[in-house]
Amino acid sequence: MLFYDLGLSNKVTETIAEIGYTEPTPIQISAIPDILKGRDVLGIAQTGTGKTASFTLPLLTKLETGRARARMPRSLILCPTRELAAQVFENFKKYGKRQKLSVALLIGGVAFKDQERILDRGADVLIATPGRLMDHFERGKLMLTRVEYFVIDEADRMLDMGFIPDIEKISKLIPFTRQTLLFSATMPKEIEILADKFLQNPVRVEVVGESATASTIDQKIIYAPSGHKEKRMCLRDILNALPIKNGIIFANRKKDVEILLKSLTVHKFSIGALHGDMAQSARMETLSNFKQNKIQLLVASDVAARGLDIPDVSHVINYDLPIVAEDYVHRVGRTGRAGRSGNAISMVTFDDIKQLKTIENVIKNEIEWAGEKPSDDDFEVSSKLKRRSAKNKHRGPSKYKASTNRREKPAEKAAPLTKTNTVSKPVAATRKHTADIIAFGKNDHIPDFLLRSCALSKTS
Ligand code: AMP
Repeated sequence: MLFYDLGLSNKVTETIAEIGYTEPTPIQISAIPDILKGRDVLGIAQTGTGKTASFTLPLLTKLETGRARARMPRSLILCPTRELAAQVFENFKKYGKRQKLSVALLIGGVAFKDQERILDRGADVLIATPGRLMDHFERGKLMLTRVEYFVIDEADRMLDMGFIPDIEKISKLIPFTRQTLLFSATMPKEIEILADKFLQNPVRVEVVGESATASTIDQKIIYAPSGHKEKRMCLRDILNALPIKNGIIFANRKKDVEILLKSLTVHKFSIGALHGDMAQSARMETLSNFKQNKIQLLVASDVAARGLDIPDVSHVINYDLPIVAEDYVHRVGRTGRAGRSGNAISMVTFDDIKQLKTIENVIKNEIEWAGEKPSDDDFEVSSKLKRRSAKNKHRGPSKYKASTNRREKPAEKAAPLTKTNTVSKPVAATRKHTADIIAFGKNDHIPDFLLRSCALSKTS
């Protein structure tokens, strides 16, 4: 199948050829003809599948005829985050270079006045985050009564971020006769309900199994200690051991993103950060530096990183397992994009085992351990130890701490590791467990896996 066969306009097809895409991806083959026919589409596709072009290319074709009026956009694309909206904007610019369409971007962190000027000129394509769109609407600077094409991108992320009520409000402001396209990487029940409500007789286009991760991604999990310092050391071991061209490290909390940025900078890693509290200009600058390979690593929170198109990230590292299991799919989808190979490694503490199982249920796959898998007994024992530790803390200083004198020497630095492509058994070497765990009674068993480094094996 060629782009030429999909029914796209000559201008679009020529631009695609110039960019160098030789064949449409499966989502493009499935969605483009139906979008061109005017059908509503429910697209279930993970990031990296060519999803953005699957709606951008037919919309550009359709918008070639007709003109926009001041403050009355002809099409509206809603995205959950500023970065994702900016990326869709870039896609419209890139694919639409032969059309004279006006494309406007409404995101937070940019002056209202500048955005109003663009709206006043009339927008064929309006790309927005829900909050900023509603702000403009409420200021009377925007009317949605001439929107012919309505796209909701990353719907499941909109759900996570609490945007569904905004989307419901926005959809009521758009004529019922519009064509609606809804894209989501996963299909939780809430999104099914939303799709029923917003789409009329849609074509359902599903490219990969729901919530699946691309088969080109080599996924591994590695045991990591729970203590903050030890866990950061473990991360450094991983970074030093792997042949990382460029990578994204995910942490769950903004505070941890900041801490990791500082810590890894001190340890001379080339790194930038991306989280929701940063100024828009700083986020854009970091992203641009990362895309241009001026920095090798990006430490990011989910919201900031969702949907970012960075074509060739070699590694994704989950410093924390995501709290929402479906986010695992999105995080891992940052690598192995558009058929390339990729690597994802997740650090798993014994507190994470339940969440790991949930993630494995979502992706319908067991993730392989990099190195020796701690046994279920190990985890059972360590959970007990942890419960008892908490109890002892509650009671005050442990008598064992005073009497057993078993405090460990400060953790030794793990032996430098040779960079290797394969992740195999860890060396049972350095002791890196916390004083809390050591503080149990003389006869308490400490499982072996708690006493070993999380480091990857040294291979020559
Ligand atoms: P997306 O899933 O929309 O984030 O796209 C992922 C990446 O695939 C982007 O870098 C696109 O530029 C690229 N891409 C989209 N369609 C094609 C295609 N047909 N052939 C090659 N690359 C593509």
